[in-house]
Amino acid sequence: MRLIRLIRIYPVVVICLLALVYLLGGFSNQSDQLVPKSALITLLYIFASVVPLLFIIGFIYIGAAGNKVAKQSSNSKSFNYQSVFDLPNEQMSGYKLALITGRNPILTGLTGDTYLADASASCSKDVNHVPPVVDCECGFYAYRDLDEAAFELTINPGSFLLAVDLYGVGFKYDRGYRAESQVVRGLKKPSRCQHCRILPGKVFVANYRMGYDDSTWWQWQFRCLVCSNSHKAQDKLSITQMEKALTVVIT
Ligand SMILES: [Zn+2]
Ligand SMILES: [Zn+2]
Ligand SMILES: [Zn+2]
Repeated sequence: MRLIRLIRIYPVVVICLLALVYLLGGFSNQSDQLVPKSALITLLYIFASVVPLLFIIGFIYIGAAGNKVAKQSSNSKSFNYQSVFDLPNEQMSGYKLALITGRNPILTGLTGDTYLADASASCSKDVNHVPPVVDCECGFYAYRDLDEAAFELTINPGSFLLAVDLYGVGFKYDRGYRAESQVVRGLKKPSRCQHCRILPGKVFVANYRMGYDDSTWWQWQFRCLVCSNSHKAQDKLSITQMEKALTVVIT
């Protein structure tokens, strides 16, 4: 903030000015002065009144601009929208992570919301929202770069990588998109078993999970033949069966 720095040096400037006025004889009563005393005093008055006024105007201006910036950034913690009106004009294709949960398998975002392979977003905070709403978090998200999603996958090892197309109204942010509706183009099966992480995966198995708050749910993992050996037949799905259950192509 340049203005704040200027305000800090303002008293220094005033003292310097007073010293200058003193040196020029503004406070002496001798008549042989370089500059007339009245002119110096007038200069002082102008400086003392006009400069603070300029600062006030400056602060009002900066305050108004700052409010705008604060409004834009307050509701987008990790997503910096370049502009509310920066609607993407390219096809919104991206990547994201999902879990597969439920006794009947369903795609589930890392935040816990479930969705079908072809779906329009709904807002959990405001039923009146048709996502995406600018100052809300609703809508389907996707990373633009595969690298970004692949990195997220390494730190969320139970999840699966999805390729998605987003449609409808969409916003672009620095890492991807947030949009109205989504079609899952494909689910990439992990190359290794999600349990032992050594052998190649072959089959999906359902595991019973227990949450902190006594909640329970089913989560599906892609496992090798050894790590799926003890699962009952009804807790296993082949790749083809999982494709049918999710209506998503598994590649
Ligand atoms: Zn919303
Ligand atoms: Zn295994
Ligand atoms: Zn195992």
